[in-house]
Amino acid sequence: VAFSEKGIPEDLEHLASFPGELSFFSLALERHRWHEILDGARRPFVFAGALIGILGLILASSLLLIYRGLQRERALSRVKTEFVAGVSHELKTPLALIHLCGETLLLDRVRGKEQSEKYLRVITRETMRLSHLITNVLDFSSIEAGKKTYDLEPCDLSEVIRETIEHYRFHLEEKGFECSEDIPPTLPLVLADQQAVAQALVNLLQNGVRYSTDTRRLEVTGRVENGDVKISVRDFGVGISPSDQDKIWDDYFRTRQARALGTRGSGLGLSLVQHVMIAHGGNIELRSDLGEGSTFTLVFPVARGASREVSEVPNEQQDSRH
Ligand code: ADP
Repeated sequence: VAFSEKGIPEDLEHLASFPGELSFFSLALERHRWHEILDGARRPFVFAGALIGILGLILASSLLLIYRGLQRERALSRVKTEFVAGVSHELKTPLALIHLCGETLLLDRVRGKEQSEKYLRVITRETMRLSHLITNVLDFSSIEAGKKTYDLEPCDLSEVIRETIEHYRFHLEEKGFECSEDIPPTLPLVLADQQAVAQALVNLLQNGVRYSTDTRRLEVTGRVENGDVKISVRDFGVGISPSDQDKIWDDYFRTRQARALGTRGSGLGLSLVQHVMIAHGGNIELRSDLGEGSTFTLVFPVARGASREVSEVPNEQQDSRH
């Protein structure tokens, strides 16, 4: 193709005879400039579009956050209401029983020493229950406030466990529970706050009672394993589903099975037990099958430099199913 001086194919030069910039070829030759002009004109729109998009995203995520916050707030207020209802219910029952027994004794309506002893035992048991519940709530609030302290000293947990079970036995038997113990006469010394350990154990025993149905049996074992002192409480109750096993340690959490049983509880017990175990440098283990039962194990590291030798204690009663 031959080109004219203007750089236009000679055959088409007549088409370029239009004056000025509007000629076809001028336009063609200046195309890149038009692109620049158009790009320049489009830029503010693109910028505005991006800005609107970003603002939209920020708005949508803020709305989502507000919605989630409201949902969390509502859930929290629901569990707190349930907590208050649970605690009030737990307070009400022993108070009513204490009131009834006290009044009966006061009005001298009891015949014989045996009967009066029975009433006095109910009063003692219910007072113990009340004191346990109040300790739980007070411990919980001091933990929340970061003020809970533990008095750790070397101790043999076998004694603490036996004493706690003995204190609680009357309550267990009254509820028709059989509680077996497999605890060696002595255990290696651990650093522990005896009162806190007893409270943790009572929480586990109480849960064993609360969440059992037909088989009313509890097994408490103490042993040494991998250099740790382990205290287990096993029940044959409703069990805990695998998906709930991580959640039961949270404050106020209660499983569907627990609710279905109609038992009231504060939902604080296990969260307290976990706190106690962390403060002791130990932990709590759980093995549970839905409908089969649960075994909660408190694991205490043996105190360093403890004078008593650490010996592995075989445990015949250890759960073989879990
Ligand atoms: P509470 O018993 O007062 O509800 P906890 O913190 O002690 O509170 O327990 C939390 C939840 O864990 C219980 O509501 C129950 O759903 C479940 N749970 C605890 N112990 C057992 C158990 N031994 N068997 C079955 N479920 C249990």
